[in-house]
Formats: sequence, C-alpha cells, structure tokens
Amino acid sequence: MEAMTTKAEVLDGVAIAAAIKVEVKVEVERLTAGGGRPGLAVILVGSVAASEIYVRSKVKTCGELGIFSEMLTPPESVTTEEMLGLVAGLNAREDIDGILIQLPLPKHVDTKRLLEAVSPEKDVDGFHPVNVGRLQSGQAGLAPCTPAGIIEILKRSGLPIAGQNAVVLGRSDIVGKPAAMMLLNASATVTVCHSRTQGLAKFTRAADILVAAIGRPGFVTAEMVKPGAVLIDVGINRVTDAAEVERFFPGDAARAATFAKRGSVVVGDIHPAAFAVSSAYTPVPGGVGALTIAMLMQNTVTAAKARRGAKSPRGAGV
Ligand code: NAP
Repeated sequence: MEAMTTKAEVLDGVAIAAAIKVEVKVEVERLTAGGGRPGLAVILVGSVAASEIYVRSKVKTCGELGIFSEMLTPPESVTTEEMLGLVAGLNAREDIDGILIQLPLPKHVDTKRLLEAVSPEKDVDGFHPVNVGRLQSGQAGLAPCTPAGIIEILKRSGLPIAGQNAVVLGRSDIVGKPAAMMLLNASATVTVCHSRTQGLAKFTRAADILVAAIGRPGFVTAEMVKPGAVLIDVGINRVTDAAEVERFFPGDAARAATFAKRGSVVVGDIHPAAFAVSSAYTPVPGGVGALTIAMLMQNTVTAAKARRGAKSPRGAGV
C-alpha cells in the first residue's frame, strides 16, 4: 500500500448503510408481495436509557424498510423462566423471522441460556452457538451485525482483504472474535490482540488492515500504525472532559460546538491523528457504527428468505 503523501480516504459508513438499506427494502417489498412480510421482534428489558435509544432506532428502521416489528418490554424484575417463555412464544410464531434480545440484561437473568434458547434460524444477532459454529466453518448463516458491517465497508469500498495482514484489537464474542473469523474466511492473515498481548505496537505496525474494538478512547496512536494501512475503528467512547476533547481534536470547531451543546463528544479507539497516516479509515461517528442496524435489517431478510425456503441469499455471514 502507498498513499503516505495522499489524503486518506474516509470510508463513509452512513452512505454504505444507506445503500444496504435500499437493497433490503427491495427484498422486503418482494417478500411482502409474496405474502411473507419479514418480521422482527425486539425484547427490551427494564429501562436502560442507551438500550432504549438503540431499540427505538431499530424499530424505526424496520418501519422505513417495511419490515414488521414488535417490541416486548418486560419489567426489570422479569425472571429467566419468564424470558424463556417469551422466546419460546416468538420461536413458534410464523410472522416473526428475527428475534433480538437487547443486551445487557439485568444481572439475575441468565443471558447465555436465553441466547441459546433463540431458534438459530431467527437469531438475527448471530450470537447462538450454532451460528457461531456456522461462521467458524464458513457456512452461510446469521453472523453478528457489527463485524459483518466491517466486511461490508471493506468490500463495498473495493479494499482488498485476501492476503492482507489483518490485526484485530479485542476478542469479545460480539466484535473481536467474529471480526477475526470473517477476515480469515475472506483469506486475510489474521492476528488477534487483547489486554494480555505483549508488545502490542509490534503487531499493530504490521497491519495492512487494523480493526480496533477495545473500548479505550484514542488508544491507537499514529506511531502504532503502518503508513498506508486501512483503519477500522469500532470503538464508541464518550468523552466528557473539555481538555481531553481539545487533545483529541485540536482546533476542531465542529467538535467544540457539539461538546458545548451536548457536554460530550464521541471518540473511537483510534486517535484521530492516526487517520492521517492511513490510506483509508472509518470515522467515529459515521463509520462502523452506522452499519450495525443496516446489517440487522439484512439479517432479518436473510432469515425470512431462509425460513420461506428460498435460496439463502448472501447473508451477513460472508
Ligand atoms: P469488550 O467486550 O469490553 O471487549 C474489549 C476487548 O478489548 C477485550 O477483548 C479486551 O481484552 C480488549 N482490550 C481492552 N483493553 C485493551 C488494551 N489496553 N490492549 C489490548 N486489548 C485491550 O468490548 P466490545 O463489546 O468488543 O466493544 C469494543 C468497542 O466497540 C467499544 O467501544 C464498544 O462501544 C464498541 N462497539 C461498537 C459497536 C457498533 O459500532 N455498533 C458495537 C459493539 C461495540 P481482554 O479480552 O483480554 O479483556
């Protein structure tokens, strides 16, 4: 890769998400015309402000694309058994193709047991062990939305994956591990780093594609990046300290205005100064985060088609 002197390309997640949504809408219209409108059920337990915001935008996007949606809102006091009952009911319903349990759940609820209770065919979050296994063995299936969005960004931007050194920072079940598996399935040479990795910069500097998913604001600095690398920033970190905002975005009037208005700005896991040495990067906000809901919608249509016995389309599973 070159481009040390050329300006880094901004990988516009909002535009890519919009294109995916247009494709999904066409599929939804086709399925609906055939009498099989796709349906998504979302279970939101209690009242966690951030979860409510996420769920609202998922339901809103369903409406925009013509997907039927239903929200179930059990109280904070709900038991694992009651939740299992709700999931069983949704598993049995013909009009529901996707079931999403908004995480995190209250501590007294057994999250793993619930995720395993969702029918793998309706598991639009891609968290069920069957779908994790399908991803691992390269079979079509439902794959987690955020890492699937990363692959869409790379592919739709015409960036090569096969043969590239891809380094993933973070090994969570919802981002790091599935992202690594998808990159491997797409024939990258993959290294996964985590909090116990020694000499992290040695690995990050070898990356042609660097995916940062650790949840630490501006952790990856310019010195840790190979010039010309592609930087994929998954991190969403809220910075509430004015001095820190100025440190991340010196002289950035737009960011300063956002901070003045909201009292915080969002920063990724990659320091904004590192983007300048890359050949292409996903901004925060407006990069990977913008894709997640679009991929959820795509998974819902993938599940609907598979359940109706149509030939399984290219799902989020790569
Ligand atoms: P997580 O479950 O907290 O996992 C963080 C991972 O980063 C862990 O594997 C941890 O290592 C590793 N890590 C932490 N500190 C590190 C360090 N100093 N050096 C190297 N590795 C380190 O987080 P997550 O759920 O994967 O989310 C990661 C980030 O992505 C967060 O900012 C989150 O908000 C964001 N996110 C965005 C979206 C979206 O765009 N829609 C979706 C999900 C998450 P250990 O395993 O050793 O502890």
